[in-house]
Amino acid sequence: MIEKQLKVWFSIALKKWNSEKNDRLMPWKGEKDPYKIWLSEIILQQTRVEQGQAYYERFLNRYPSVHNLAQAIDNEVFKLWEGLGYYNRCRNLLTTARKISEEYHGEFPKSKEGLLKLKGIGNYTAAAIGSFAFGLPLAVVDGNVFRVLSRVFGISDPIDQQKGKLKFEALANLLLDKKNPASHNQAMMDLGATICKPKNPVCADCPFSNKCVAFIKGQQTEFPQKAKKSKTKERFLYYLILECKRQRLVRKRGAGDIWKDLHEYILKESDEPQAEKDLRNPSFWAPNTIFSAKQVRDSSDELVHQLTHQKIRSRIIYVIIEKKIELDGYRWVSNSEIKKLAFSRLLTRYLENRQ
Ligand code: SF4
Repeated sequence: MIEKQLKVWFSIALKKWNSEKNDRLMPWKGEKDPYKIWLSEIILQQTRVEQGQAYYERFLNRYPSVHNLAQAIDNEVFKLWEGLGYYNRCRNLLTTARKISEEYHGEFPKSKEGLLKLKGIGNYTAAAIGSFAFGLPLAVVDGNVFRVLSRVFGISDPIDQQKGKLKFEALANLLLDKKNPASHNQAMMDLGATICKPKNPVCADCPFSNKCVAFIKGQQTEFPQKAKKSKTKERFLYYLILECKRQRLVRKRGAGDIWKDLHEYILKESDEPQAEKDLRNPSFWAPNTIFSAKQVRDSSDELVHQLTHQKIRSRIIYVIIEKKIELDGYRWVSNSEIKKLAFSRLLTRYLENRQ
C-alpha cells in the first residue's frame, strides 16, 4: 500500500513538472528511430550533451542509416569520433552497426534480452532504446536518475557497486509509469540534468521537494554515494613530430593501452617529467633520430591531458629534417593523408593551436 501511494505521488509530481515546467530541448528528444536513439546514447556516454550534440548531427549527416554506418571505412569513423575520447565506444559502434545491418537486416531487436546481446549495449542503453523506440516498460538508470532517486529517498547504497545498482534499478522500475515509459524516462533524466544537478540543485523548483529526504535534511551533496575513490595514475608521454618533405613519421597504437587504434607521432614515455631542453636533444629519442637545434620548429609547454584514470603530462617537439630516416613501427605519411587519420585529442589540440 505504501509502495502504491509512493508510486502515485512520484508519478503525478513528475508528470506535472514534465508537462508544465520541463523546457529542456535536445535534437533526439521524442525520437522513435532506434538507430538515432542508439547513436545519441553511445555518443552521450561520458560526454556532455552540448559537446555530444555536434557529433550526433555530424554522424547522422554522414551515416543517415545503420547500413551506411556498417559500410563505413573504420578510419573515417574514428576520424569523425576524434575528440570524443573513450574510443571503445566507437569500435563497439562499428561492430554493432555491422551486426544489425548484416545479420538483422537493419532491424534493432525489440526486446531487452536481444538488445543486451549487442556489443556496447548494457542495461542503460537497452532500456533507453527499448523504452524510447519500442515503448518497452524499462526504466532508464543513468547518473541523473541515480542522483534523483538517492536524494529523494535518502538511499546511501553506493552506486558503483552491484548491490547498490540493483537496488536503484529495482526502485526505478517500481516507480516507472509503465504506460508511458518513454516520457517518464526522459522526464527523470531532464529533471536530474536541469533541477537536481550534482552541484547547487534547484530544490525550490523541484516537484519532489516536499518529501525529498536529502532536501529536508540539507544533505543534497551527500548523495549519491560511491564506495571507491578512483585512483589517478600520472604518466609522462613525450612526442616528436618528425617532418620531411611534407611527410611525417606516424604509427597506429596497438592494444593494451589508452588510445588503441588511434595514430600518433614518435612517442617516448618517461618515468619522470622531462624539461624542454632534454627533448631538444636528439639522444633523448632513438639513436637514428638525428636533428640539429635549428631544425626544431616548435616545442610546446607542458600539456596536461586528463583521462578517467590517468593524468597525462606531455610535451611535443616539432622538427623538420631534410633526409628521411627509418624507425621501427613507424611509417612516413603525407600531411594530406594525415588529415584523414584519427589522433588523440592531446595531439590534435596541439596541432590546431599551432595553426
Ligand atoms: S528536492 Fe532538491 S535534492 Fe531533492 S530531488 Fe529535488 S532537486 Fe534533488
